Amino acid sequence: MQSADVAVVGAGFGGLAAALRLAELGADVTLCETLRYPGGCASTFTRNGYQFEAGATLFSGLGEGQLFSNWNDKWSLGLQFETLDPLVEMRTDQWSLAIPPDPNELQRRLLELPGADADALEGFFHTQREVADALWKLFDDPSLLPPFSGASILKHLKRSPSYAPVLRWMRKSLGDVVAHHRLEDWEPLRIYLDAVSQITVQTHAGDAEAPFAMAAVDYFFRGTGHVHGGIGHLAWALVDAIQQAGGRVSLANRVKGIRRDDGVWRLQTRKGEILASTVVANVLPQTMSKLVTPELNGALRDVEQAVEDGWGAAMLYLAIDADAAEREAAHHLQLIDDRSAPFTEGNHVFCSVSSGRETERAPPGQRTVTVSTHVPMKKLRSLSADEQGEYVAAIQEKMRETLRKRAPRLWRGKQFETTASPRTFERFTGRHLGYVGGVPRRVGLQHYRPRSLWPREAERGLYAVGDSVLLGQSTLAVALGGVRTAEAIARRDT
Ligand SMILES: Cc1cc2nc3c(=O)[nH]c(=O)nc-3n(C[C@H](O)[C@H](O)[C@H](O)COP(=O)(O)OP(=O)(O)OC[C@H]3O[C@@H](n4cnc5c(N)ncnc54)[C@H](O)[C@@H]3O)c2cc1C
Repeated sequence: MQSADVAVVGAGFGGLAAALRLAELGADVTLCETLRYPGGCASTFTRNGYQFEAGATLFSGLGEGQLFSNWNDKWSLGLQFETLDPLVEMRTDQWSLAIPPDPNELQRRLLELPGADADALEGFFHTQREVADALWKLFDDPSLLPPFSGASILKHLKRSPSYAPVLRWMRKSLGDVVAHHRLEDWEPLRIYLDAVSQITVQTHAGDAEAPFAMAAVDYFFRGTGHVHGGIGHLAWALVDAIQQAGGRVSLANRVKGIRRDDGVWRLQTRKGEILASTVVANVLPQTMSKLVTPELNGALRDVEQAVEDGWGAAMLYLAIDADAAEREAAHHLQLIDDRSAPFTEGNHVFCSVSSGRETERAPPGQRTVTVSTHVPMKKLRSLSADEQGEYVAAIQEKMRETLRKRAPRLWRGKQFETTASPRTFERFTGRHLGYVGGVPRRVGLQHYRPRSLWPREAERGLYAVGDSVLLGQSTLAVALGGVRTAEAIARRDT
């Protein structure tokens, strides 16, 4: 039997960040991960000699002074971060847009698209930037996030005038902001915002809570790029940092049960029992409910419901000729087949190609590619088991068609393919029924309730982290949520 102050379940970015921050704050931490490698939905796995990014491919938080950049320096992690230009190329049947790392340049490129109105577009981006600047300060300075200290409350008070535009747009959709600037009939902006919103706040612009969606519009411009060697490199680097800080990381060690016993948590793991006074669970609330005894009695039911309104992912993992990759101008492609259909189910795919300098990811002369699309889980779950298989296969076929049409050179270079589905994510990462990507930020005040903004304690000493709770979806957001949860635990224990 082993004991620890804090046991962390799951080495996704929520669990890695919580464990690292706890170790930095002097806690005795053990992190258990069921897989042989860390990162969860943002890991790199090996198949047939190729290294594929499992889900997430774009990274943020590696800009100067941001969370991962600070850790990179503090623990000498040696991570190389590539800012790309263009960062992403968006393609429809009528136009393509190479998204540069400079937002002013993006605005200039949007103006080149047919039917653009310069004044209206300027007005829209002015509103968007006011809101985004106010909210990204919170990402750049985690001390401004809950739990608040006296100093952080003071900082917020000083900044309060900058929050006025945020309050103005609460409970409105991003579509409302577009309409306010009389741009609702200009299709290129609608498509751009729908596509960006779908991969960030997990819903289309007309349905997305405006302040969060306006901040997400800036996602590409805030320390966002590529981690050299694949996103899993960053996860391994955090494992290294946790160990340097005195924490333990136990891979290939599934937690089978978490039981409260006389004020102590007992974790049954594949490698034996761990006793801890605090547990941080980096799993979905549905999984947590199954692991924990006595029952949680619905403490996380609101989060469970929000997850069930969300998405799964269908994936294609390809190896292609290096020549085919080099003919593409961008490493990340956002491809849309039918502009009028929802940007899901293979009609919209996000496609990321490894760089020529990442020689370990494919044999010479080849590159690896990760392609993803959203699967609406309510629809999937309404089908029988056989129908579900057919439905996912049809989505994957639609993904191939979108690639064939919008990235034909890349598609023609294909040498190898393997696939994944919500079931694969469930099997490998333990994500209940394969729900991934976090909770959609649909219009509503629910996002601002204290329980959505504070570290989430399901029971005394049992915390939830990850993309269904504080701060929600994306590797940076879950890591910041993990850091703030660690700080709440440390503060409680002093
Ligand atoms: C297809 C796709 C593309 C995405 N693209 C991007 C992107 O480009 N950029 C971005 O920032 N974000 C992206 N995201 C979102 C991002 O990947 C997630 O929000 C984030 O990685 C979730 O991290 P997490 O820590 O909440 O959970 P997870 O990554 O799911 O981590 C949970 C971990 O817990 C482990 N685990 C589960 N059960 C147990 C158990 N019983 N015992 C021990 N361990 C257990 C799992 O193996 C896993 O490692 C994408 C997501 C998907 C699915």
